[in-house]
Amino acid sequence: MFNALVISKDSSGYHCDLSSLEEAQLPPGDVLVKVEYSTLNYKDALAITGKGPVVREFPMVPGVDLAGCVESSQHPDFKAGDRVLLNGWGVGEKHWGGLAQKARLDGHWLIPLPADFSTREAMAIGTAGYTAMLSIMALERQGITPDKGLILVTGANGGVGSFAIALLAKAGYKVAASTGRPQEAEYLRTLGAVEIIDRASLAESGRPLQKERWAGAIDTVGSHTLANVCAGIAYGGAVAACGLAQGMDFPATVAPFILRGVTLVGIDSVMRPRADRIEAWQRLSRELERSSIEAISHEIGLGEAIQTAHNLIEGRVRGRIVVDVNR
Ligand code: NDP
Repeated sequence: MFNALVISKDSSGYHCDLSSLEEAQLPPGDVLVKVEYSTLNYKDALAITGKGPVVREFPMVPGVDLAGCVESSQHPDFKAGDRVLLNGWGVGEKHWGGLAQKARLDGHWLIPLPADFSTREAMAIGTAGYTAMLSIMALERQGITPDKGLILVTGANGGVGSFAIALLAKAGYKVAASTGRPQEAEYLRTLGAVEIIDRASLAESGRPLQKERWAGAIDTVGSHTLANVCAGIAYGGAVAACGLAQGMDFPATVAPFILRGVTLVGIDSVMRPRADRIEAWQRLSRELERSSIEAISHEIGLGEAIQTAHNLIEGRVRGRIVVDVNR
């Protein structure tokens, strides 16, 4: 028997409970993983609380991220004892996920854990840090180097935002952080932000072209914020759009794209090809200050994950939550 969060939708409604399962109940797959750590992403919180249509099949074990040790494998790339990592691929949405002590998975979804990360560090980073790195790689591919000017990060206190700030600052970029929590300014400056912007100044409908303030941006917020961010990008700049914390809409004009040559790059971490995943994780292991991981994350046990998911949806969580599934 092992412990797992299980989401059900039945005559009593939509609910998530800490349950005890048998290994035989796990879905098919060619690698059985003894999970050590998982995380709580925004998407996991939507799944657990039922506040967003994340879960496609019921019952479902949530958790889009996991790290642990292979218990048994029929996949040629993995053997018992290997330390592995998984982000996305629909795990926790349509295939049982990481908020459990065991997971049976398709070996194609797994990548080896970078040698100098512990499973706990990898999950403190999780999909959020991996998405932040994919966003930085996208800006680099558009020629946005540190000498080009200030980079804006929106949703700064969130998981993606926090890691984006830390990684950009470490790479030599000057970073402006947009947040609705000015009381966390000191935390954001510790991560490396040189300027704090009140997110309210970006949240409402604005002019199609505004002062050229930023060379590039990583936007985790969407909606009017993303439209205003695009309108404030300098000529030839780029925006990596990865989130929708304000909304899924994009009430913008084409003006920044056709008059300033601004590029809008979409970032998807879920179905990202394996080579990009490995590159992103290798770079995280080389470039991320270990002290940033500790500053950004805090740990909870599996039993605390349901209440914490509600806190996360209500915007009361800073940075990243790493979940020790064995306590
Ligand atoms: P978090 O919940 O940790 O952070 C989101 C942050 O957005 C909050 O901390 C807050 O920052 C800000 N925010 C929240 N509500 C609003 C609002 N109404 N208006 C403006 N800002 C708001 O989430 P993550 O960092 O994990 O994820 C951020 C976004 O990126 C989510 O939408 C998530 O679904 C998406 N995502 C997408 C991925 C992809 O593959 N494309 C992968 C991972 C995440 P502050 O308090 O500083 O204002």
